[in-house]
Amino acid sequence: MSGVAAGPVADLTAEYAARTIRSGDHHRQACRHLPGGETRSVTMYQPYPVVLAEGHGALVRDLDGNEYVDVLNNYTSLVHGHGFGPVVEAVTACLPSGTAFPAPHPAQLRLAGMITGRYPAVQQVRFTNSGTEASLLALRVARSATGRRRIVTFTGAYHGGVPEIIDGGPDTVPVRYNDADQAVAAIDSSVAAVFVEPFLGSAGVIPAAPGFLSQIAGRARQVGAVFVLDEVQSLRNAPNGTHAALGLEPDLLLMGKIIGGGFPVGAVGGRTALMDLTSAARPGGLSCSGTFNGNVISMTAGAAALAALDGPAIGELNGRAADLGRRIEATAARAGIPACVTRDGSILEVHLTERAPTCAEEAAAIPAAWESALHLALLLEGVYAAPRGSLNLSTAIGHDLLARVEDGYARAFGRIRDAIALAPGQSDVNRSAKEEAEKVGADDNRRHDPFPMVHGDYQDTAGRFANPPG
Ligand code: PMP
Repeated sequence: MSGVAAGPVADLTAEYAARTIRSGDHHRQACRHLPGGETRSVTMYQPYPVVLAEGHGALVRDLDGNEYVDVLNNYTSLVHGHGFGPVVEAVTACLPSGTAFPAPHPAQLRLAGMITGRYPAVQQVRFTNSGTEASLLALRVARSATGRRRIVTFTGAYHGGVPEIIDGGPDTVPVRYNDADQAVAAIDSSVAAVFVEPFLGSAGVIPAAPGFLSQIAGRARQVGAVFVLDEVQSLRNAPNGTHAALGLEPDLLLMGKIIGGGFPVGAVGGRTALMDLTSAARPGGLSCSGTFNGNVISMTAGAAALAALDGPAIGELNGRAADLGRRIEATAARAGIPACVTRDGSILEVHLTERAPTCAEEAAAIPAAWESALHLALLLEGVYAAPRGSLNLSTAIGHDLLARVEDGYARAFGRIRDAIALAPGQSDVNRSAKEEAEKVGADDNRRHDPFPMVHGDYQDTAGRFANPPG
């Protein structure tokens, strides 16, 4: 058995509470007005989240004035950090002349042209307000195009809050990520669509095994199912998208995050023949309205952000991320902490195990208590990463701040070394993780909770939100 010793974690929690008094007060008030004191599951962690009041570049500050290096960047969407000059200027310039119209606007055409010019899978694009809505739309398009209902998804994958994907259902066939044989067997001629991420994002930045994605794409094509590649996170990692880098030709591409320049957005793109099913000019076309679809702010900000994210910028960002990943691993080794870093482009995850997980089930076997301890320790050291262990870089982060992040990890690892308690004789964390993985069911992503809640009104009895997606 493995766990977190009460003493050191209690010390971390006490120090955290002492440093974040205003955030604690805010949480107690928020619990009266917002269920669980929040309005976005992923922002909740225990004992309560710090309340961020401002951000500049790669730095954020909380209500108590504590400063953090932001390596979360609103879960990959702020690829240029906070208050990026070209975005601020473009949005400020358009504010006085209208932000949303019940009509087409030139800003939509501009961003659409940038996207179709840049991402080979996208001949046409339709904007939504979130990645979730993009998934919902892709599902409707796939069902309309094929006349079928079933979908194949991967355990631990996140495509937004789409009930049939996130909760499952009679038409959903979940398959283990990186298990090509299981996937190929599941994708038959009753399947409308296969939804897959180029790497498992919220389940642990778990890379796809070589050939895995192309096998799925090939099988989908063979049986006439729509191959939906979710690039909501991964779009930032290659100049023409990850699909181009991998030579994939998805039927539909899901986009979001960076194409809104920090404002709400999502999009579905694909070949004209498929996308035309959503055309209002077409008799029987799928209706897809949204009051804020294509709003001027998101379109304008997205265009400014994308224009600044060219090939050299992406190369630089990915190089910095690779370097940081290596440094974090070396730091962990020096501290005697079993850890490895997985990475795709500028998105990384620190796993408290020596062997990188290959699917959500393996990632879920790493004790959540250890992850929570590391997260809290990082906050105390001024590093703002995701509670689940992921981080990503923005172009705003320079060498000085990267060094601060590395030092922060070094000190945080030192803080949690005593908190990670192993039972006598069980020094092999990987073995322990593997054994736990075998105990965890194929679709059971539950984590155990090390800290008592400050307020008992948030109870995650199903465990579903113990490690929510971003
Ligand atoms: N797909 C992926 C891969 C994501 O990471 C996310 C959000 N983290 C979504 C879809 C949903 O996007 P949104 O939060 O904008 O609804």
